[in-house]
Amino acid sequence: TAFTNPPLDPVLLENIAFARYTTPTPVQKYSIPIVAGNRDLMACAQTGSGKTGGFLFPIFSASFASGPRAPPPETPSMGYSRSRKAYPTALILAPTRELVSQIHEEARKFAYRSWVRPAVVYGGADINQQLRLIERGCDLLSATPGRLVDLIERGRISLANIRYLVLDEADRMLDMGFEPQIRRIVQGEDMPGVEDRQTLMFSATFPRDIQMLARDFLKDYIFLSV
Ligand code: AMP
Repeated sequence: TAFTNPPLDPVLLENIAFARYTTPTPVQKYSIPIVAGNRDLMACAQTGSGKTGGFLFPIFSASFASGPRAPPPETPSMGYSRSRKAYPTALILAPTRELVSQIHEEARKFAYRSWVRPAVVYGGADINQQLRLIERGCDLLSATPGRLVDLIERGRISLANIRYLVLDEADRMLDMGFEPQIRRIVQGEDMPGVEDRQTLMFSATFPRDIQMLARDFLKDYIFLSV
């Protein structure tokens, strides 16, 4: 049957129906109730399994219902800030431009007619154009790790409002040498601590280095293998 466990936000259900998804894939069937139940998740799932919906649907369902979060008060800097800083409430890290772009396209489709404004940033492309786009709205951000570190260091993105953190294709991110950037993002001073966010990790494999990341980034997590 359809996406009824747990019941999802009605606007999201309309968007899911519009995308002609009639039945959850196995990873969606298990991950949606886990995430909706506020648990951290370590999921072993392949590309093509529908894992994107597996994390986007429960994040969107709860977000649509709860409405935007006010940005936290920040220490005022000298003078005025020329440009607005983005405060995403959900962050999805993935290894490549292709993958973050795919996630972003899914996010746009399912965020339709909600308050959530998806945005995407990745390396190897004009940063000023990406800055102009994130200024127009950046509630759910899909990002490659290196470009995100750059934007944080430029003071253009703050992670202080993050409620959901997703690491997608974590094994590929480590294979590509992103561990230092990932640790700077997840263990940086800006990011809410593990108790104050919900963290989801997806990986095709579960070798020792991924187990270490899970131990460091997740709390009391449910392990799902599909
Ligand atoms: P993913 O593994 O998230 O990259 O998804 C693989 C493909 O399956 C994408 O083209 C999705 O649009 C599609 N897909 C994901 N979930 C469903 C679903 N429940 N029903 C039909 N197609 C889906």
